[in-house]
Amino acid sequence: MDYSSRELEAKEEELRKIRLAFLNILEDTEEAKMQAIDEKNKTLAVIRNFTDGLLVLDDDNKIELVSPLVEIFLKQAEEEILGKDIFKLSSKKIDLKPLREVFKKRKAKEIKSIFRKEIHLGEELFLEVTISHFKSGEKKGTLVILHDVSRDKLVEKMKTEFVSISAHQLRTPLSAIKWTLRMILDGDMGKINDEQRDLLEKTYQSNERMIALINDLLNVTRIEEGRFLYKPESMQIEDIVDQTVSDSEETAAIKKIKIKTERPKELLPPVMVDKEKMGIAIQNLLENALKYTPEEGAVKIFLEKKNKDVVFKIADSGVGIPKDQQSRIFSKFFRGSNVIRMETEGSGLGLYTTKNIIESHNGKIWFESEEGKGSTFYFSIPFCS
Ligand code: ADP
Repeated sequence: MDYSSRELEAKEEELRKIRLAFLNILEDTEEAKMQAIDEKNKTLAVIRNFTDGLLVLDDDNKIELVSPLVEIFLKQAEEEILGKDIFKLSSKKIDLKPLREVFKKRKAKEIKSIFRKEIHLGEELFLEVTISHFKSGEKKGTLVILHDVSRDKLVEKMKTEFVSISAHQLRTPLSAIKWTLRMILDGDMGKINDEQRDLLEKTYQSNERMIALINDLLNVTRIEEGRFLYKPESMQIEDIVDQTVSDSEETAAIKKIKIKTERPKELLPPVMVDKEKMGIAIQNLLENALKYTPEEGAVKIFLEKKNKDVVFKIADSGVGIPKDQQSRIFSKFFRGSNVIRMETEGSGLGLYTTKNIIESHNGKIWFESEEGKGSTFYFSIPFCS
């Protein structure tokens, strides 16, 4: 084929443009590649410098990516961890069962929302494990964050020890004051006049309140240190309820409140309980009902059998618990804004202790309350099998 020189020139020009276009495409591709590498490096740098341990699992729960802290927490190198199934993860240096259990208890794939749990690994490592699922385009997986809370735990332990030691130290002088006041009030040190008696009675009552607070604090520290030991025995729950009601009759009479008790005619099956601890739990609930119910109000206790459990219920016609505070009711030191306004005495430790006692008996505790109308607290514990 014969091309004229003009045609040749045009072809050359076309080829030159095509070459240029190719070079541009190549350059763009190279730039995109560099950008992707750059992004990847940035992401890796974030992961590497993350202040928590980070694990990424694929859709089959195999470990795809770990941050350096994971190697320290799990005491093994990245190469040993990568590709392993999280349900089978183990180490020769540290028992990883608590970590596996977190996944086993809530099968990783079934968790819809974020799930968080605290675990204890080895001698002194406490980790808060957060699991969340992600979906990015076609890719699905799980993100696991291991947050080291060992220091917080240590500080908490030191605080508990401090409270425990202080409470023990305070108990001795308070007991001495109690017995001295009792002797004076009983006339062992000579006759006292009415005015002196009145003042001493008030001092005696204040001292009693301090002793009660110290005892509450000691119970809480025992719970937290795992020293709140239980001595369960088979017994009738009715007996503990009757004893507690009879102990509170004086307080109830002062407020002109009659405590009514309703129970099935025939005896309930026995329960396995620690008599002293269950007494504390029921007493806390009854004391609250009396304390937060105005004079001439009503307090009613019900006992009933429900399947394999006994259900204890205590209803009062008192001040109730504000709706927006109800979720905090079993927390340590919580006191409702309405009862603080009323200037009632209290430590906010009673319900925390009660919940611990009921749960240690494999029971459940819950309540219903409406501000200004009253509250009903319930607990259930299983009968002896
Ligand atoms: P305390 O009675 O010493 O303050 P508790 O732990 O026993 O501590 O109770 C915590 C808080 O829960 C109380 O301060 C009060 O606000 C609320 N509460 C508990 N029981 C009742 C009740 N029966 N009626 C109204 N409020 C209650």
